[in-house]
Amino acid sequence: MDTNALAALLFPNVTATPADMEARFPERQLPEGAVVSRMAPSPTGFVHLGNLVQGLISERMCHQSGGVFFLRVEDTDAKREVPGAVEVLIDTMERYHIRYDEGATKTGDNGAYGPYRQRQRADIYHVFAKQLVLQGEAYPCFCTEEELTAMRAEQEAKKVNFGYYGPYAVWRDRPLEDVKAQLDAGKPWVLRYRSTGSIEHKFKFVDLVKGEIDVTENDMDHVLLKSDGIPTYHFAHAVDDHLMRTTHVVRGDEWLATLPFHLQLFRSLGWKPPKYLHIGPLQKMDGESKRKLSKRKDPELALTYYRQEGFSVDAVYEYIMTVLNSNFEDWRRQNPDAPIDDFRFSAKKMNPAGALFDAVKLRDVSKNVLSRLTADEIYDEIMAWAVDFDRDLYDRFAADPAYAKAILGIGRGGKKPRKDFAVFADVRPYLDFFYDDLFEMKDAVPDAFRKEDVKAALAGFAATYDAGDDAVTWFDKIKAVAEGLGFAADMKEYRQNPEAFPGSVADVSMFLRLAVTGRVNSPDMYDVMQVLGQARVLARIDAMRQTL
Ligand code: GLU
Repeated sequence: MDTNALAALLFPNVTATPADMEARFPERQLPEGAVVSRMAPSPTGFVHLGNLVQGLISERMCHQSGGVFFLRVEDTDAKREVPGAVEVLIDTMERYHIRYDEGATKTGDNGAYGPYRQRQRADIYHVFAKQLVLQGEAYPCFCTEEELTAMRAEQEAKKVNFGYYGPYAVWRDRPLEDVKAQLDAGKPWVLRYRSTGSIEHKFKFVDLVKGEIDVTENDMDHVLLKSDGIPTYHFAHAVDDHLMRTTHVVRGDEWLATLPFHLQLFRSLGWKPPKYLHIGPLQKMDGESKRKLSKRKDPELALTYYRQEGFSVDAVYEYIMTVLNSNFEDWRRQNPDAPIDDFRFSAKKMNPAGALFDAVKLRDVSKNVLSRLTADEIYDEIMAWAVDFDRDLYDRFAADPAYAKAILGIGRGGKKPRKDFAVFADVRPYLDFFYDDLFEMKDAVPDAFRKEDVKAALAGFAATYDAGDDAVTWFDKIKAVAEGLGFAADMKEYRQNPEAFPGSVADVSMFLRLAVTGRVNSPDMYDVMQVLGQARVLARIDAMRQTL
């Protein structure tokens, strides 16, 4: 076969050479060990946890090593493209602190290795497609859909592997005249790779997550360019990741099956392949067994879910880090207040089988994350959520931010901050009693206590309460009330001989708690009363007395 003639027939307008491309996209000047990686999503509009996981891994590897992280839009499948999807993706990743140094932006491109949208790179792919034709490693195939379907049926009947290979690669060695005739007749064609691999041959491959794995050579003459001249994922991957000087590819392990083909492509094109990290799918427990998170069954796969549910971005991010790196939790325990970027992410610490998603664990992590925020920080986060999802709460907080922050400040700071919130939706039921119109008695005085005692305790406290008291004086007054009623003021004494008392100082505190908050569990009562203020505390105590 005269490959020069074939190349001229197929790519009459391609004049640029591979060398031109190498010159246009030179090696990056980066420090030793710098990782260049990318996020390469298809713009389908659905941004899921898997995207975030992949983005986070790549981003960390790049930025921890002084490298470059970029965004490439894999829009080769125009049918699946959703308008606005790139914008949604960029916004979502930005919200999760995944920042790109380079790549597609909302308005175009940023960087010297673009265009960063694959459909705009057709001329670049054609240069290398032509090179492969010249080398005798690619050829046009004019098979129609019907012919390919018939081929598949035949393979099914013969119980052999499906695909375009060996005897089924019918256009592989057709003479130039046949090609010419088809082209003259205006027949559509795809460009196929001429594979020299054999499924009899296996080789070892080292993946940075999976470790050493056995892979089988590829014997398929896969499509490189579709009939519209747009490349398949495989060809675009090789060309783009070479020219964009990607050093590490982090992608789903569904691509392992075609990895041998990708390696072949790099070899045929004379390039060093990048290092690969193939990550397992996110899984969850379904009864006793694990299964892949599914778009259809699991709302938690979509990132929009976390915003609706009121998870903070930092909590989701921290949770992902927890499941990705087994040493993260220890690190966090030792560095409770350190910024998460101080943690050194390591691909070696990843589970090769994929991460197990656990909603309970997510809530736990989230409680910890939210407990570490200052009142100002959590106020801002709640507002950013409530503006869309709890307008009433938003309005209340906006009407008196100082009051809202005083409420949110209770139990914050210090070594053991309160962990009341997993999601922002937990905020309202937790603090509604701070707003008079939302206050209601949720719990009742346990029957074990005599009403007169409760009444007397409330009256006794009300008579001496002074919001100006410090916490010690305040508590001494409660103790005094307790003692006056014959309740034990000393808890140790009470525990040794509970029968001897109608109750203890803890019970008296509980009566006050009920009066002031309407419930038996609440944050620190001294602080609550400080925030509510003398008048409201007394009014609530009085109101409860009326009901007894
Ligand atoms: N567009 C591919 C995907 O979404 C990218 C895979 C890769 O990162 O190479 O699966």
